[in-house]
Amino acid sequence: MTEECVFCKIVENKLPSTKVYENSDFVVIKDINPVAPIHYLVLPKRHIPSVLKIDQEFPSNALFETIKRVAQKEGFSERGFRIVINTGPDALQSVNHLHVHIIAGRKLGWPPG
Ligand code: 5GP
Ligand code: ZN
Repeated sequence: MTEECVFCKIVENKLPSTKVYENSDFVVIKDINPVAPIHYLVLPKRHIPSVLKIDQEFPSNALFETIKRVAQKEGFSERGFRIVINTGPDALQSVNHLHVHIIAGRKLGWPPG
């Protein structure tokens, strides 16, 4: 837990969120400001500021397992989805606790803005 980190607080149930899935390493919540009918955030339970701080301990396989499981459980794996990790200022990362966006439920444009 890092002081004043909003996602650490959500992971620890000190702030409310709508959880859609949880396992030992990750919590998956609904984004408070969705950009598509389905917009989830996969939060590692351990605080890590961004992709740039990923280390040997980081459960990368479990991250992809988590994404896959949520897509199947919530029924959008067939139609498709997008995963996004905004990293740093040019990508408009606004919360410095690593999170993977899962976006689905409509046809998505490419390239992103
Ligand atoms: P970023 O821009 O850092 O990639 O994404 C941060 C995301 O977190 C945004 O899509 C924003 O809507 C979401 N977000 C920020 N604060 C909260 C919160 O307190 N609860 C939830 N559920 N989502 C949040
Ligand atoms: Zn945190």
